[in-house]
Amino acid sequence: MLFKRLHLQFTGLCALITMAILALFSYLYLSVSERTLWENYTLSFQHDFDALSGSLEQQNTLTYSFLLRMEQNSGCLIFLWDNGKPLSFNRLESHAPYMTMAEELYQDYRATAASPRHAQETDFYVISLSDELNMGIRNIYIGQMSAAEKTIALQKGQGLVLLMLSPNTAYHRRLMQQRVLFVLLSLAGCMALTVFAYLFTGRLLSPIRENHERQLAFISGASHELRTPLAVILSSAEAKPPRFEETIRTEALRMGRLVEEMLFLSRLDSLRFHSGTPRHGKPGSLYKSQLTHLLHMEELEPDTLLLDTYESLEQLALRQDKKLALQLPSESLPRMNGDRDKLRQLLEILVQNALSYTGEDGVITLSLEHNASSGQLLLKVSDNGIGIPDEQKDKIFERFYRVDSAHHSKDHFGLGLSIAREIVELHGGTIRVTDTPGGGSTFVCQFPV
Ligand code: ADP
Repeated sequence: MLFKRLHLQFTGLCALITMAILALFSYLYLSVSERTLWENYTLSFQHDFDALSGSLEQQNTLTYSFLLRMEQNSGCLIFLWDNGKPLSFNRLESHAPYMTMAEELYQDYRATAASPRHAQETDFYVISLSDELNMGIRNIYIGQMSAAEKTIALQKGQGLVLLMLSPNTAYHRRLMQQRVLFVLLSLAGCMALTVFAYLFTGRLLSPIRENHERQLAFISGASHELRTPLAVILSSAEAKPPRFEETIRTEALRMGRLVEEMLFLSRLDSLRFHSGTPRHGKPGSLYKSQLTHLLHMEELEPDTLLLDTYESLEQLALRQDKKLALQLPSESLPRMNGDRDKLRQLLEILVQNALSYTGEDGVITLSLEHNASSGQLLLKVSDNGIGIPDEQKDKIFERFYRVDSAHHSKDHFGLGLSIAREIVELHGGTIRVTDTPGGGSTFVCQFPV
């Protein structure tokens, strides 16, 4: 629940930030593209105006048909004043709605053209009309032919002023289309970003969640395991008779062992956490350098290690009416780098498990193989015991996991194999369990040499 809420909060935050960035850049892009659209539009108008004024200069007489053709070609409305007088062409029916505006613009042009400053300026300018004057034409272009006027005036003795009005509905349609497209694309982008943020934060949180869940499982497992010996110690202490002293001692030793195992695992977790090393991933150099405090690496002979373990556990097996066998290859084996005590601990865990999970007359075999081609050393502990179902083969390496918790003696906390796996992985190796042919389990540890 906590992680679900955290996930949603992170998703919201991540999506908001990325959307804000997206909106900002979209807005910037949109304004640049709108400006470009406007520039193109005015350029095209200027081009039409230049073409028309150029054609006018070529004409000796202005005919209705010529002017109408020009209007059709450019899609603009043409108004003309000859020496201050409007031409009759201005009074066409199609011009009527714009006549007043055209007159105003012409007067305005006359006023500005009279000033020398304006006379120097460009042949063309754009006037934006206020909304009240809006008659389907929002921005009105007026082209003034100051240069051409002079030329015409000189050539033909008349001053001709051309006003070209271009409805900019096409421009506004393009503008609207562009804005709608942008809004739609931005919405799609926001949706994609939200999905991305959800998946991204989910991935980000998953190692933290896993770690949290593992910690919880570890704490609950540990408390559960500590409760039993504590209860025994308490009840024995209350009973007081001297014969319970031994029970108290045994239980305290058991608790001590459990605490030792938990400390080893939690020290590894803490190293991993601080060096940012994933649980079963490749260890980083920081993790490796910190491990030197935890391991005492030395060059050792693997067959001697196996022999020592065999000798120390043989009697234990015999006492339980079981047989511990040792199989070593005849050829000499390469030396390996490892922590002697930890590797002994690994072998003891595997052999003691094998002893626990085989019946009477059980046979446990310790063996060693060297695969020269792959450069691997295979250390095997096999038994002919109860075996492990396939679906449990991975789970048994988890902390406090037991296949059948009802069937265990007090000495089994469910931490043995997780410690075994940690030890093997600390040595750069892997551990797996397979079925022994004919029944039972075989634990195979693979080490690089
Ligand atoms: P435990 O302390 O309970 O033995 P481990 O982590 O060593 O915990 O083992 C986890 C579980 O794996 C055990 O509870 C047991 O069910 C199963 N297991 C381990 N070794 C063997 C084996 N040699 N044969 C059958 N089952 C085994």
